[in-house]
Amino acid sequence: MRCPYCGSTNTQVKDSRPSEDHTTIRRRRVCADCGGRYTTFERVQLRELTVLKRSGRRVPFDRDKLMRSVQIALRKRPVEPERVERMVSGIVRRLENMGENEVKSEAVGRLVMEALKALDDVAYVRFASVYKNFREAKDFEALLGELTAADDDEDVPTDRASASAED
Ligand SMILES: [Zn+2]
Repeated sequence: MRCPYCGSTNTQVKDSRPSEDHTTIRRRRVCADCGGRYTTFERVQLRELTVLKRSGRRVPFDRDKLMRSVQIALRKRPVEPERVERMVSGIVRRLENMGENEVKSEAVGRLVMEALKALDDVAYVRFASVYKNFREAKDFEALLGELTAADDDEDVPTDRASASAED
């Protein structure tokens, strides 16, 4: 594992121990060239996942990124880090078990919402408000489209109707 400080591959494992739930192994490493110390984690990966974004872009699934967004939602909430780890691992397993190598970002968002709902109400509301805003922006456009189309309706005040006719 390349040293993050000097780029040397001449590094040694000083200590390795499993996490409490035995889903990860944490290794303390030291670089023989610069003396830098760092930690790596080893965990099971059942398959390589790609996330299909709303924009149509494809990006490799990134567990750390998922963890960060979950942690933002959980900021200052009294939830043990271990439960958060388990939750994120559970989400990743469920994504892997969907049987597809490509998952939609919406599917990831839905799983996170479900998991947070079970874990912490406040974090759930925080995450859902961010996640749903994206969808509601689209819904809002659809609604605007309907309102524009409704301009010809009888219940639109006459002055308003004539004003828009002049546009
Ligand atoms: Zn180094």
